[in-house]
Amino acid sequence: SKPEKNISVSLKSSNMSLNCSKVEQVKTYDPLGIDPDLVQKLAYDALVWSSLHGLVAGDRNIQWSGKIPGVGMVHAPVALLPMSFPEHYWRQACELAPIFNELVDRVSLDGKFLQDALSRTKKVDDFTSRLLDIHSKMLEINKKEEIRLGLHRSDYMLDEQTKLLLQIELNTISSSFAGLGCLVSELHRFLLKHYGDKLGLNPARIPGNTAVIQFADALAKAWNEYNNPRAVVMVVVQTEERNMYDQHWLSSTLKEIYPFQLKTLAEIDAEGELLPDGTLTVGGQVIAVVYFRAGYAPTDYPSESEWRSRLMMEQSTAVKCPSIAYHLAGTKKIQQELAKPNVLERFLDNKEDIAKLRKCFAGLWSLDDSNIIQDAIERPELYVMKPQREGGGNNIYGDDVRETLLRLQKDGTEEDAAYILMQRIFPTVSPTFLMRDGICHQDRAISELGVYSAYLRNKENVIINENSGYLMRTKVASSNEGGVVAGFAVLDSIYLT
Ligand code: ADP
Ligand code: MG
Ligand code: MG
Repeated sequence: SKPEKNISVSLKSSNMSLNCSKVEQVKTYDPLGIDPDLVQKLAYDALVWSSLHGLVAGDRNIQWSGKIPGVGMVHAPVALLPMSFPEHYWRQACELAPIFNELVDRVSLDGKFLQDALSRTKKVDDFTSRLLDIHSKMLEINKKEEIRLGLHRSDYMLDEQTKLLLQIELNTISSSFAGLGCLVSELHRFLLKHYGDKLGLNPARIPGNTAVIQFADALAKAWNEYNNPRAVVMVVVQTEERNMYDQHWLSSTLKEIYPFQLKTLAEIDAEGELLPDGTLTVGGQVIAVVYFRAGYAPTDYPSESEWRSRLMMEQSTAVKCPSIAYHLAGTKKIQQELAKPNVLERFLDNKEDIAKLRKCFAGLWSLDDSNIIQDAIERPELYVMKPQREGGGNNIYGDDVRETLLRLQKDGTEEDAAYILMQRIFPTVSPTFLMRDGICHQDRAISELGVYSAYLRNKENVIINENSGYLMRTKVASSNEGGVVAGFAVLDSIYLT
């Protein structure tokens, strides 16, 4: 019999609406005008609140902090106050979420498109090639994923000059910070409740953030669709993870109702079994849903064991978040292919939806476009060069763009197929207080807004398709990359103006 639908964590995105009137004039605030004594008080309260509420990460300076929970914790890097963000663009980003969900789903069903678009990349990028091999095997056996679950995060920057909200990328695997991101919104609301009058800020202008609940809800509903009361949700984790508390927030929200287990790729290879009917068991437990928080980077596959594990999961009937096709649909190369003329039309019918997506596409090019290559060599500061990688710290900027392009031209190999070129986006720079390792410092910063989204369907039945909370990340303007764990950026929330 079907397990009872007992999902107490279900929350609709309408909870993100603001409870203040539309006509209200909202003033932006100037962090530099805040009294330094008040900044100190805010910073102290922020540190206490973070420690008491689990807004924490493993401290890179302490051994075992990425392995043993509760050992070597430090507050997560955060902005002291929320970043001003125009409400109009916030709504635009939220509206795009279900359209991107639908797009990823449609693209995932077109195996030939994925294989063809990535065929040149496959020759020169071993990691993408291994992913494509798994994907081809699934095409060969005509594997059908009837229950499809996507937990995505689409990232944007607001381009100052054109006043356009432009997409940086769409993450379809391991979209992180749903857990800690919610806490940052709460931290900022807490600070504004106490100091809002002094600062002239209204806590209700920070949108509520239910990302962690909505993601847990989507995982729970996917478990429900799998329809085996004895099966569990399995979270695939890295062997060492300093961002483990973000993941624990999600799994413990889920655990209140559903059984789950954490396993590494190597453990799954050792303990896993694929039964003749396609059921996946790990350590004797039937797996209903596989949620990947590992497996997106080459370093996650140090040996053949991890690849065997990934293939076994893909072959199984378990719901994969993401499936190999969803994973590939989130690569930068596919982002660039989708931005070509008439490609969106292959996947979506609604003209308005297509126009909305196209409006947020930045300039994207493959490296077989010689005019663009020439321009990027002459004006490298206007471009970002990206390989097919995730997790931050992989892109090429500035003079390195020129040098890399010249080297590729000289070599004359096909290595250029490993990269795409993207228009560099320049958001407004504003003064901000950033907190890291207990220290609050002021700097000029830029921000990137991520909007989470969840998608769940079973055959023709779309069960969830909604935007699911947000994450702002703010980084020092002079830094190119934005990784929070990598040490470039801080977690932030938004103050709607
Ligand atoms: P990853 O999958 O590794 O996160 P991203 O495409 O998100 O790759 O790039 C990492 C970071 O680089 C982003 O968070 C952003 O700070 C910066 N970045 C990426 N693309 C652009 C761009 N077109 N313009 C400006 N900054 C960018
Ligand atoms: Mg990414
Ligand atoms: Mg990114």
